[in-house]
Amino acid sequence: MPQRAATIVGGGIGGLAAALALHRRGWRVEVLERAPEFTEIGAGISLWPNALRALEALGLADVVRAAGAVETAGGVRDRRGRWLSRTDNAELVRRFGHPLVVLHRADLLRALTEALPADSLRSGSEVSAVRDVANRPVVDHCGGESRPDLVVGADGLRSVLRRALWPDAAGPRYAGYTAWRMVTEPLAEPPREGAATWGRGARFGHTALPGRRMYCFASASLPEGTVFGSSEYGELVRRFGSWPDPVPALLAAVPPDAVLRHDLYDLPPLPSFVRGRLALLGDAAHAMTPNLGQGACQALEDAVTLAHCLDGTQDVAAALHSYDLLRRPRTQAVTRRSARLGAIGQLSWPPAVLLRDVAARLTPTRATLRSMTPVLGWTPPGDRVTASLNGGR
Ligand code: FAD
Repeated sequence: MPQRAATIVGGGIGGLAAALALHRRGWRVEVLERAPEFTEIGAGISLWPNALRALEALGLADVVRAAGAVETAGGVRDRRGRWLSRTDNAELVRRFGHPLVVLHRADLLRALTEALPADSLRSGSEVSAVRDVANRPVVDHCGGESRPDLVVGADGLRSVLRRALWPDAAGPRYAGYTAWRMVTEPLAEPPREGAATWGRGARFGHTALPGRRMYCFASASLPEGTVFGSSEYGELVRRFGSWPDPVPALLAAVPPDAVLRHDLYDLPPLPSFVRGRLALLGDAAHAMTPNLGQGACQALEDAVTLAHCLDGTQDVAAALHSYDLLRRPRTQAVTRRSARLGAIGQLSWPPAVLLRDVAARLTPTRATLRSMTPVLGWTPPGDRVTASLNGGR
């Protein structure tokens, strides 16, 4: 079979993972990234067992685990710091074969870029359009044009390729809340467990990173585009400075200029992720709110599945059709589930908050984990060894 060529638009986690999955299966790949370099923002990222399984298929699970931290346990607390539910990482491993790994985004991006041929990575390459010429895709970018066998649109929430595929599809939907993210300086005594603390219309989470640092995230229900009079750090301290330990100590260890804030969005479901030789992947296909920590995990699953579907066939359009059938229902279900969890987490009416907290306290951890099996128990297509792993327990 002559070597086939793929152009991947967008060099985030999804695009790089797709490039690597295709490269490992013999494709010539180029990743067109509009930013001047391949980097990620200064925040952590949670990778659940399903993502570790995808990384295993990409040959990167060990590298990523070595760059990440695995906490022994974590859970959800109420506004007074009392545990509502708690999960042991060993239990995750027992059920799903991998723990929850948290690492710095830059380390994940580095692992992906270092596994790819250097000449496949084209930063400073903004894509303006994709056209069909005699049934072949042509990608227009600031460096000229590319005429590959396959185009992967991994250009994120405000994807150009998504608009090319579905010009009339609705754009991003604001979730009704905003999120802060930050990484602390190394701490003399990092908290022993991670936690998400749920208040009224606000949440604060923390989890360990390597090097005694902590990754913290917070959310608050606010109108879209709210701008604060004070700095983001000042606003965070005002809102969360009196929350239960260890929140104040964590905030004190955050460099004020390291606080990131983004309004949160998801994308309405599309009727298809593919057309001809073009496939959407990651946030461009199914941006979701971060409540389940699954956006990047799903992008990694997409990448592995896409390469699997294209393996051993010359019929790219048929392979993409299979990819769409495998990925669209699953990712759209995870998107809905994440939005539901966010609505519960952001409740602010006191009786509803009380009810939520009581329900969380009364739900056995076992039941919570079992309910996560459809998300966390994913195995790569064709992976016979793990296909039956712990399903439905
Ligand atoms: P992106 O990361 O958006 O990458 C798209 C890339 O395309 C960018 O580099 C961009 O510069 C480039 N690009 C865009 N347009 C063009 C163009 N025209 N030409 C060329 N290049 C272009 N997920 C998890 O799994 N775990 C978590 O813990 C987690 N936490 C999160 C916390 C928050 C607050 C948020 C907002 C998200 C979180 N996510 C998490 C989701 C995760 O960050 C995303 O799902 C993931 O990064 C999507 O990757 P992507 O490659 O599809 O898109």
